[in-house]
Amino acid sequence: MLQPDRETRAEWTKTVTAFVEDFIEGLEAAPASSPGTALLPPPPAETPGELADLLARFGDAASQAVETAGPRYLAYFPAGGLYSSVLAEFLAQATNRYTGVASTAPALVALEHSVIRWLCAEFGLPAGSGGIFTTGASLATLSAVHTARQDRLGAHDPNGTIYVTPHTHHCVAKAAHITGFPPERIRVVPTDAALRMDVARAQAMIAEDRANGLHPFLIIGTAGATSTGIVDPLDDVAALAERESLWFHVDGAYGGAFQLTERGRAILTGIDRADSIAWDPHKSLFLPYGTGVLLVRSEAKLRAAHVADGDYLQDLDHGTGLPDYADLGPELTREFRGLRVWLPLHLHGVAAFREAIDEKHDLADHLRAELKKIDGVEVLPSDLTVVVFRSADSEQLLKRLNESGRFFLSSTRLGGRFTLRICVLSHRTHREHVDEVIELVRRWTA
Ligand SMILES: *Cc1c(COP(=O)(O)O)cnc(C)c1O
Repeated sequence: MLQPDRETRAEWTKTVTAFVEDFIEGLEAAPASSPGTALLPPPPAETPGELADLLARFGDAASQAVETAGPRYLAYFPAGGLYSSVLAEFLAQATNRYTGVASTAPALVALEHSVIRWLCAEFGLPAGSGGIFTTGASLATLSAVHTARQDRLGAHDPNGTIYVTPHTHHCVAKAAHITGFPPERIRVVPTDAALRMDVARAQAMIAEDRANGLHPFLIIGTAGATSTGIVDPLDDVAALAERESLWFHVDGAYGGAFQLTERGRAILTGIDRADSIAWDPHKSLFLPYGTGVLLVRSEAKLRAAHVADGDYLQDLDHGTGLPDYADLGPELTREFRGLRVWLPLHLHGVAAFREAIDEKHDLADHLRAELKKIDGVEVLPSDLTVVVFRSADSEQLLKRLNESGRFFLSSTRLGGRFTLRICVLSHRTHREHVDEVIELVRRWTA
């Protein structure tokens, strides 16, 4: 019963594929958000169901949602979910190879590792660097904070101190909490007028903390802040970290992808000096949710912080010369995440990604320029593909835009004030969508 025959499989696949085709073709016209119910459906029955019925139920549930895959989703960090990546996922799950330890599927681990090596080169990391695909930047950050602690403090040290800014993502505080550092060990360095880390202040705080018996060990530079897209002065933070022997972690969860473009690389100068970099291909490489990556300057340090063994693993060969991913992160059994990055990169070619990222960058510049021309709209400083602005009644404007069903935007607070926020990042978002949102803002602030 659990292994359907070839005919049944073909029929199921056809049914699901037809659904997916209709879904993708419908995205352009689909409402940007639809209200949903949180009613709990019945538990599974003992008897078999019909795929068509279950698919209809899934489709109905999926439609009661914010249309995160559509071209008009401009909130948080859009990433439509590349179809090529969906196919890779299908293949990876169907073959279900074990890639926690390299020897059980060495050629597939090599394939995943080839993407990590390519990324290390793109980010300018030296020989000996490495990394691992994770479920997202939060988990990448957890491993980075843990590795920094092991490398710089050795044993657990309650006086270990971490430096962030008010714009650092909360996943750093969460990772610090999980790894045993209380909130008072996270020092919030003020930013300058451009909302970038004030590195001189960071230096002074580190000196003061050392004088008070604390042990500074980790500093976080953000490459693309969540609220504004702004990038910390990474080169200066790197120099400070080197002088003070701190671990330098770059949170490029969103902004990391801009390293793939010439214009972006200039903005991210200094990222190659990082000890670790977190980046989310499920944001700025347009992949479906569930794909982050941690890159480290020293794969050996990442391994030293995560390696573990058990008697039941004694048959496994650890001498393949490839990384055993179970030794580089908290997971033992893991999905074969590499394929959903590898297939799109090879199928579309890297240039297609560089061009798409550049296109979104152009669209955000266009959006900033056009919004500035609208009377009653104040455009605040932002970078990369995030645009932040206010109107006389920003909350009402956001409500109106989202209730129109044409777009879905989000907001943030800057300087304590409510601020609208647009992020252009879906591979499905193009000039016509951006022009339409500009037109609506113009109409509704008049
Ligand atoms: C999204 C984001 C994170 C968290 O990443 P997840 O993939 O959601 O876990 C961390 N830092 C920044 C800057 C982000 O934008």
